[in-house]
Amino acid sequence: DLPSSIIRRLPVRFTYNNNYFNDRYQGIPIGGYTKIFKQLLAGSDVELNVDFIKERHKYINKALKVIFTGTIDSYFDYCFGDLEYRSLRFETETLNTSNYQGVAVVNYTDRETPYTRIIEHKHFEFGTQPKTVITREYPQNWNRTIEPYYPINDNRNQQLYAKYKNLAEKEKNIIFGGRLGEYKYYDMQDTIRSALNLTKEIL
Ligand SMILES: Cc1cc2nc3c(=O)[nH]c(=O)nc-3n(C[C@H](O)[C@H](O)[C@H](O)COP(=O)(O)OP(=O)(O)OC[C@H]3O[C@@H](n4cnc5c(N)ncnc54)[C@H](O)[C@@H]3O)c2cc1C
Repeated sequence: DLPSSIIRRLPVRFTYNNNYFNDRYQGIPIGGYTKIFKQLLAGSDVELNVDFIKERHKYINKALKVIFTGTIDSYFDYCFGDLEYRSLRFETETLNTSNYQGVAVVNYTDRETPYTRIIEHKHFEFGTQPKTVITREYPQNWNRTIEPYYPINDNRNQQLYAKYKNLAEKEKNIIFGGRLGEYKYYDMQDTIRSALNLTKEIL
């Protein structure tokens, strides 16, 4: 059911390089994302555990401009129907060993294994702790009560997104950003590039 353009996203290789990504640099910010975001947000007021949708009037009245990074269809009360996502279920375990798989990520692409990858978190930062924490990722069907992860870029969803985008363009002082607001498959570098471009545009 997927559009033929998806074939361009499938890495086909004729080498013995078993690295999934082709990027020259792979990693996370030193100290992790929490540290970088704490520094980025230093001096700002941060309110957590609030649902913008439920309290939208309060926030819209408070700000000259709002950047909304939630799902674009939820903002419009799903008036044209739900955009679809793939979701995931995570199973995390602490193991009494200093090393489990030697690297941060191992993908499992065979049909028999129920999880698609195992993350061993310590290797992102070259940790030397006596124990290790691993997370198995299982594919899970999405519904409104669970976290949306990857947009499903088939024709139905693209057409639906175009309708929501059209409504979004008519909203005054609300900017829809990020993977959920733009209904795009974004990696971190795409997200950061898009945010910087948006910032230039706004400023
Ligand atoms: C399982 C998984 C693995 C990934 N692995 C990689 C990887 O290895 N490398 C890589 O480069 N990228 C990876 N990504 C992609 C990367 O995480 C995303 O592209 C990036 O986080 C998108 O940033 P964002 O700001 O657009 O969205 P998000 O990080 O999703 O931020 C959106 C924010 O909006 C908040 N929000 C939503 N709705 C509301 C609401 N109604 N009220 C208040 N707040 C709301 C959410 O809580 C969230 O904090 C992965 C993504 C997933 C899901």
